[in-house]
Order: sequence, then C-alpha cells, then structure tokens
Amino acid sequence: MTTARTIDGKAVAAAVRQRVAAAAAEIAERAGSPPTLATVLVGEDPASQVYIRNKHRACEETGIRSVHHGLAAETPQEELLELVRELGRDPEVDGILVQLPVPDHIDPDAVVAAIDPAKDVDGLTPLNAGLLAHGTPGLVPCTPAGVMELLRHERVRLEGAEAVVVGRSKLVGVPVARLLLAANATVTVCHSRTRDLAAVCARADVLVAAVGIPRLLGAAAVKPGAVVIDVGINRTEEGLCGDVDFEAAATRAAAITPVPGGVGPMTIAMLLENTIRAARRRRV
Ligand code: NAP
Repeated sequence: MTTARTIDGKAVAAAVRQRVAAAAAEIAERAGSPPTLATVLVGEDPASQVYIRNKHRACEETGIRSVHHGLAAETPQEELLELVRELGRDPEVDGILVQLPVPDHIDPDAVVAAIDPAKDVDGLTPLNAGLLAHGTPGLVPCTPAGVMELLRHERVRLEGAEAVVVGRSKLVGVPVARLLLAANATVTVCHSRTRDLAAVCARADVLVAAVGIPRLLGAAAVKPGAVVIDVGINRTEEGLCGDVDFEAAATRAAAITPVPGGVGPMTIAMLLENTIRAARRRRV
C-alpha cells in the first residue's frame, strides 16, 4: 500500500534546465559568447566516461559550451595541476570540473585545491566548503543543491523542522546538513557509529539518506508524514535502488523520492545552474 506522493526529480530537473537554457541564451547575447564549462578526466574509467558524456550532452541541450580535456591515466600530478591552473586563468572558461575519482598516484585534495574557487562548479574547493560552513554559500556542491531544490519545489517548510541527514561525506551529507541548517531546520547528522539509527531517523520531518547501503532505512525509520529524500544509488541484482526501502517508507511518508528518477537527475541540472551562476558572477 503506497500512500506517499512520489517526488518527480526528472520533472524538477527539466524545469531547472529550462531556466538554465534561458539564462545561457541571455548571457551569450550580452557577453558575446556562451557560458563555458571545461571538464577534465584522467584515465578511462568507463563509469566516469559515461558521467562526462552525460554532462556534455546536458550542456549542449541548454546552450552551454563545453570543452573536454582527456588525459592519459599515467599523467603526472603536476601536469594535471598545471592544466587546472591554466583553465583558471583562461578568460573563456566559466566552470571547471575535474571528474573524480582520479588515479591512485594523484592526490584528489591537491587537484580540487588547484581549482579557481570562482569557477568551482562542483563546490568542493576549501574556499567554497568554508563559505558554506560560514552560512554564506558560494558555489554549492551539485547533489546537495539538488536536494534543496527538490525540497523548495515541494514547498517543504524547513524553518523549525526536524531534519535528519544520514551520511557525513564531504560530497553529500555534510553540505546537505549545512544547507538545511542555513534554512533554519534543526539538523541531526547520523553516520556509521550512530546508535539506534532508526529511532533517530524517526524524529525527522525531513529525512535525507546519503549512505550507499541498499534499503538501509525501512518503515521504522520514517515518521508518519515525513518527507524522504533518498540520495543513495546502489546497484543490486534487481537493478538500481536507494538507501531507503521505498515500498516500506512510502506507507508512512507524505512524499518520497524514487531511485532512479529522484535526486539523480538533479545533480547534472545543478551543475548547469552552477555554471550559469559562475558565468554571471564573472562576466556581468
Ligand atoms: P560515502 O562517502 O561513502 O559516505 C557514506 C556515509 O554513510 C558516511 O558518512 C558513513 O559514515 C555513512 N554510513 C555508512 N554506513 C552507515 C550505517 N550503517 N549507518 C549510518 N551511516 C552509515 O558516500 P557518499 O559519496 O556520501 O554517497 C552516498 C550515497 O549517495 C551513495 O549511494 C552514492 O552512490 C550516492 N550519491 C548519489 C548522487 C546522486 O547524484 N544522486 C551523488 C553522489 C552520491 P562514516 O562517516 O562514519 O563512515
């Protein structure tokens, strides 16, 4: 018995893309050239190649110019850092994205730190992470920004709400928690050492799961009437699934994101939006 409303991430992402396309056209007209995203991939990891292809296709569809730099897997770290710094100096480039993970001989933190924070469309540089921690966000990581866009679209009242985030990664859990706090929710962050996870989650008006364990959270973790945002993407024998047991949670939640089709489509949409934000700030 499913009672929850399913939050349609594809539709929300399509609305963001429409907004992006209009903004890209406006910037191109005003500045004389379209907003530009530069991507860098080191090596030939098949999953990374798919992600990069999808990002370029999304750029093309929304009028953002994209330029790709593919480097051999054995490229020395210094050569990669020099390319990233050069893209930072290039006046034609508005956004820089280095696809992670990088090969083992390269320190990902050093690569991220070399990105010009004004062009950091993944929102991962220490400066942008620090601004977020200060409550004055610059460029915000794409998946957390996508979570907030879904909540905005669903008109979820965050002020004073109990929000529980499961997961504390730099990429998802922590930035989501900071954005919820900035929106005046009362935020609890859970992780692998949290005692009685389901009981903590069951306090949440807004529950965000970003763990990477298939169907970790069941009905007992969902407060009746809660809004559940499932960031998890897990490959199982039965196909893709989230960190939340959708069928079980949907019997209690008011609204819930499916996997796939929930948070997933938002990530690229917010990357495009970050590219527009970076271009606006640099050019106008
Ligand atoms: P991550 O870096 O592996 O972090 C996972 C977090 O979950 C850690 O903080 C970990 O706690 C916590 N955790 C692990 N086991 C737990 C347990 N039993 N109970 C409570 N917490 C537990 O993963 P991530 O990069 O944040 O990604 C999380 C999920 O989101 C993955 O499925 C990933 O594929 C997905 N994802 C989706 C998108 C998208 O576009 N939709 C984007 C990025 C990631 P500790 O810190 O204590 O180890």
